[in-house]
Amino acid sequence: MKNIAVLGSTGSIGQNTLAVIRSLPGQFRAVALSVQSDTVLLKKQIREFKPRMVCVADPQRALKLKKEFGGLVKVFCGQVGLGQMVKDRQIDQVMVAITGAAALPPLISAITAGKEIALANKEALVISGQLLMGLARKHHVLIRPVDSEQSAIWQGLGGYCAKHVRCVYLTASGGPLWKLPAKSFKRVSRERILKHPRWKMGKKITVDSATLMNKGLELLEAMFLFDLSFRQIKVLIHPEALVHSMVEFNDGITLAQISATDMRVPIQYALSYPQRFTGPVRGIDFYSWPQLHFAKPDLDKFPCLGLAYQAAKSLGTLPAVLNAANEIAVEGFLQGKVSFIKIPSIVEKLMRRHRIISNPGFSQVMAADNWARLEAKCLTGVV
Ligand code: MG
Repeated sequence: MKNIAVLGSTGSIGQNTLAVIRSLPGQFRAVALSVQSDTVLLKKQIREFKPRMVCVADPQRALKLKKEFGGLVKVFCGQVGLGQMVKDRQIDQVMVAITGAAALPPLISAITAGKEIALANKEALVISGQLLMGLARKHHVLIRPVDSEQSAIWQGLGGYCAKHVRCVYLTASGGPLWKLPAKSFKRVSRERILKHPRWKMGKKITVDSATLMNKGLELLEAMFLFDLSFRQIKVLIHPEALVHSMVEFNDGITLAQISATDMRVPIQYALSYPQRFTGPVRGIDFYSWPQLHFAKPDLDKFPCLGLAYQAAKSLGTLPAVLNAANEIAVEGFLQGKVSFIKIPSIVEKLMRRHRIISNPGFSQVMAADNWARLEAKCLTGVV
């Protein structure tokens, strides 16, 4: 029986993680949950999963929860509380499903405490991948990726390291705008962008899928997770989203990971590795599946992907700037303050203005992140 802490338990990945735990009651137990503010759903989760600890970011909501469940559940509060909670001896594995740079402090606490890590958060790796992987090596912690593409690469590698790899095909569904001509991007509605053709996800990542920035962030993630060079990673459009990524080895053999478009698959693998349990998701019925398609992405049409390659080449503090500028630009788009086609130009502007620091420490990475956030807020009017 493995005891799991689910950070961000009310988000899309958090809920799917609890669904996996629910489906394998003999294998996993949710012993700790954390949320930003949705205590309504958290209460339901407490009643169902009976965790021993919970953490709520908002102090007032944490206090209310303490009054209601105090005798049964230990209630932690805020960033400091979360850092304490993840170190608890009862926890074997921490599922980090918090979005944004906010995941970084609890992730560092969990790695330092030697917990197994299932990582769904992209930003922490993107902005400080080299540092985090170094920290994980130091504490002998394996970071198990939850993102479907990274999980596919992890499985495809099967323990081989980067020197055996000719390239990795990072697949992308292409998002909702893949087939539209670039000219019409100006007129495309928010509703269309927020309706992803294959995956049901949070709003931020859905916009990132439309700009292909999501794939750009995954490119950086893959570099750090598997110690690959950006030259070894090729983005491949694959609209059916059935092949979750492929690894081509030096001898010309390519291994592809194929499964249903369902986040429970990579989540379960991250929890169960190295075992494979019978889970709730079925395999693919190849007898009735239509053709698979692959294509090269158009970087003129999707400039965000080119910007991510640029950040991957320079490294240092540039990936942090790319990520922070994008986060604010997307927030501006969601608030109706930034048009869709302006997102890449905001990111590009800040990347050009930034003075890159190579081999930064955590504080320099966070300073670059803050700088880009403030500048992007000035450019977009996001508060
Ligand atoms: Mg993905």
